[in-house]
Amino acid sequence: MVSSIFNLRVPLPGNDVFLMNTLTDAQAIVSADVAALLDEPIDRQDLEGDARDALDTLIEHGFITDGGAHDRQALTDYLDRVTSDSSELNVTILTTLQCNFACDYCFQGDRGDDSRLAEKMSMATAARVAAWIERELDRVRPARLALTFFGGEPLLNTSVMFYLAERLWHATSSRQVELATSLVTNGLLLTEDIVDRLLPFGFKGVKITLDGDRHTHDRMRPLRGGQGTFDRIIANVRRVATRPIVINIGGNFDQHSIEGFAPLLRFLKQQDFVGSIGYVNFKPAIRTAADAGIGLPGPRHVHTLTPVDAKGTPLRPLGGACMTIAGEGTAAACGSCHALDDQMTFLREQTSDAGFATADGIHNGPCHVHVKHAHTVGPDGSLYACPGFTGEKRMATGHVDDRREEWRDLNRHQFDRLSPWTSCGDCAFIPVCAGGCIAASHATLGDMNTPACHKRSYQSAVVALAHRAAGISREAQ
Ligand code: SF4
Ligand code: SF4
Repeated sequence: MVSSIFNLRVPLPGNDVFLMNTLTDAQAIVSADVAALLDEPIDRQDLEGDARDALDTLIEHGFITDGGAHDRQALTDYLDRVTSDSSELNVTILTTLQCNFACDYCFQGDRGDDSRLAEKMSMATAARVAAWIERELDRVRPARLALTFFGGEPLLNTSVMFYLAERLWHATSSRQVELATSLVTNGLLLTEDIVDRLLPFGFKGVKITLDGDRHTHDRMRPLRGGQGTFDRIIANVRRVATRPIVINIGGNFDQHSIEGFAPLLRFLKQQDFVGSIGYVNFKPAIRTAADAGIGLPGPRHVHTLTPVDAKGTPLRPLGGACMTIAGEGTAAACGSCHALDDQMTFLREQTSDAGFATADGIHNGPCHVHVKHAHTVGPDGSLYACPGFTGEKRMATGHVDDRREEWRDLNRHQFDRLSPWTSCGDCAFIPVCAGGCIAASHATLGDMNTPACHKRSYQSAVVALAHRAAGISREAQ
């Protein structure tokens, strides 16, 4: 028997070693002599007493296995199980591609020559979306429906949101299916009335994006006219925090804004609504690459995100869908896209030190793009493999009205066959990474099947996890 290819080891002060197996998720702190049992192939008969007991424990938790072939088969079984899990139907609905913000990183994708108006889901399309979800409930028979409203800014189309929330509440109630509804919003239009309207229909919480302290956020996420938004969002959060919902905070940083996040953490810590905050998770801003996706089938059609003025009048469109969801919707729309780098590891540690729940930077995947019963629906009823692809209509993989179009079918088959981890060799992180973010691979590498690798960040996250498990403070490291 030999050490599993999915083992990770972190030496600790003294004579201890932190062990983690990413396939079984077993974690243990063992002495160096026990860890040494992983160093060479071993025959149980050659051991006795404590050594044999230690070996049995390592075998039981998957640290020692029958070898690489066994591990690879176990990985295949695990990925099959996770990606075909039918206990939850997960649907993210983009009620509109309009947005009332003019985020710095979104302007990076601005396409000045594109004058199409924003897409906004009509009530007729919403009815078709609801009917499709009801069909899926009957076909998949999940125990739970996780429903996330997203955009653009979903609160610019509340009538569709209210309609879908209520209808799907009845659809799930009559089928004895649990419903968890959530909302990803910039927070500017969030009111108690909106929350009260949703609460009877399985509404669990909201994810709001804050891109740093007031000064930084107002620079990164201003209104189209340049006005700051931080104070108004915080006032709205304070009001809705009186309701029984969870408020999760996300944020997008880059090298010019990262300085604003430590002050934001300090600010949040001091607020009277701190008890309503579920978790805080920051990630690097995703910038859409111009004309990404060369060689893919379907009409060349960028699915634009269109800013609106204070009255909701569409202004000049931008070049991509909002990526604020990539990270952690309350109902876990895309709960995985922790595009990783050193700054992110540092921020994660700061967030944790401030006492907020946050991602550990390890348990990221396999993400929703691989999950069979996770879907994203665009404003026109087009289906996408995940929120990361809603910026390009030609990436649609289907439609709620079941229309058959060759280019959508080709996309669906292409997504079904994705397995970037097959290029990852025996990387120990495959069970929790699965080759990284496909949307990032598509946008930055032009190839969805080439891993977007952030191994270095995984490695530092494991070290941080080991130190937390051993009770070692960051100052002492
Ligand atoms: S491909 Fe990227 S954006 Fe899409 S679900 Fe996975 S991590 Fe999220
Ligand atoms: S993308 Fe990198 S970290 Fe992820 S599984 Fe592949 S090699 Fe490992």
